[in-house]
Amino acid sequence: MAIKTKQEYIESLKQLKPTVYMFGEKIENPVDNPRIFAGINTTGATYELAEMEDYRDMITAISPFTGELVNRFTLPAQSIEDLVMRVKLNRILGGYTGTCFQRCTGLDCLGALSIVTHNIDRKYETHYYDRFIDFLKYMQTNDLTGNAGVTDMKGDRSLSPHEQEDKDLYLRVVDKNKEGIIVRGAKAHQTGSLSSHEIIVLPTRALREGNEDYALAFAIPADTKGLIHIVGRSSLDTRELEGVDCGNIRYSKYCPTLIFNDVFVPRERVFMCGEVEFAGEAVGRFSAYHRQSHGGCKAGKIDAMTGAAQIMAEYNGTNKVGHIREKIVDMIHRAETLYGCSLAASYEGKKEPSGTYFIDPVLANASKIHEGKEMAEAGRLLVDVAGGYVANLPSDKDLKNPEIGPLIQKYFKGVADVPTMNRIKMFRLVEKMVLESADTISDIHGGGSAAAHRLTIYRESDINYKKRCAKRLAGIEE
Ligand code: SF4
Repeated sequence: MAIKTKQEYIESLKQLKPTVYMFGEKIENPVDNPRIFAGINTTGATYELAEMEDYRDMITAISPFTGELVNRFTLPAQSIEDLVMRVKLNRILGGYTGTCFQRCTGLDCLGALSIVTHNIDRKYETHYYDRFIDFLKYMQTNDLTGNAGVTDMKGDRSLSPHEQEDKDLYLRVVDKNKEGIIVRGAKAHQTGSLSSHEIIVLPTRALREGNEDYALAFAIPADTKGLIHIVGRSSLDTRELEGVDCGNIRYSKYCPTLIFNDVFVPRERVFMCGEVEFAGEAVGRFSAYHRQSHGGCKAGKIDAMTGAAQIMAEYNGTNKVGHIREKIVDMIHRAETLYGCSLAASYEGKKEPSGTYFIDPVLANASKIHEGKEMAEAGRLLVDVAGGYVANLPSDKDLKNPEIGPLIQKYFKGVADVPTMNRIKMFRLVEKMVLESADTISDIHGGGSAAAHRLTIYRESDINYKKRCAKRLAGIEE
């Protein structure tokens, strides 16, 4: 079955038995936990779209690897059209869920590995690419979701991995045999690790000689023995756990910490082991792809935020006020700039020796820097338009209370012909989109910090060309 329905996706996760902790307790059935399910439900949208007539042709494509129709979230780009479609899909899904749908990081790992394993083989005559393609076909045929195990804990940032006092602060190989390797360490910010079937691990940074044990790429099922998912808390947990979301659809992001407690990785799932000079390429390509992805999903999220701003203005009776309309326009142009940059990164993509297409990293990183500032500005504008009730709205439980519920309905009324409950629901959605910490912090740090984006832009830009432009104009001859 190459294409799963949303229900089949949810059922397939129920077959896994991952080790999970949340708020100090072991969670036996993560799919049934309301907090975790809100995340799974969001990733489910990527399966749901494949069931919808309007989007089916967009989100599916024939894989050259299996010859079958597959979900694009399992297909490394094989053309410029694939790169472009990726951004368009992300925009649709960002608007559909209003948050992170958590399926892109796995695809970005597949994209990076489809290039880097090939490059390692060309240098060392290893067989990583063939192993990787077998894994890719497995992902495609079963329509699986992958999680990106990229960000190590990093310990003392002034030291390289092998110089750390505790050598496990970066994920490393602690043993090897002919069947495979044993790894130990941890990965932070694991977007939707329990919404995923597979954990795909890449190095977290460029590495030098001496750090061979840390130059690692591999994939393992999310319920592998020794793997522990610790779900952190985030700003709006109570909405799911206590049922106080006033009927908003339960879409949410969560990013567990993953502990690899001496985990065995079979040989056929190892895609890099010791080739230090390729660590930087692997993480660099992953990050660049992910910054392109963000330009799509965050433009889509601003679509939903802009819709909420317009509706709040209508519910509040302020929609004809000039400065309100200006703020809505300011939100729209921010979404279009992000989207435009991300599309441009796709159209300027190039074919790599393995056949996979890679985006223009300067444009992708420019999009991400823009996002870091402009998502916060879009949120500020939305709250400005919606009003202060976003902060202190009574909960569902107060609304259901027979004594105070009718009073809340009476006093939270906006314009006469809009039911109070609609206004309350929209305030709740605004709260969610602006204050959901797991998602809003990713506007800044997702796919690497703002400093990393700048470094990439400087490294990848043709500064000499820019200097030649200036010298010619200045009349300086060399
Ligand atoms: Fe995808 Fe990342 Fe956007 Fe989440 S934040 S929807 S994983 S690109």
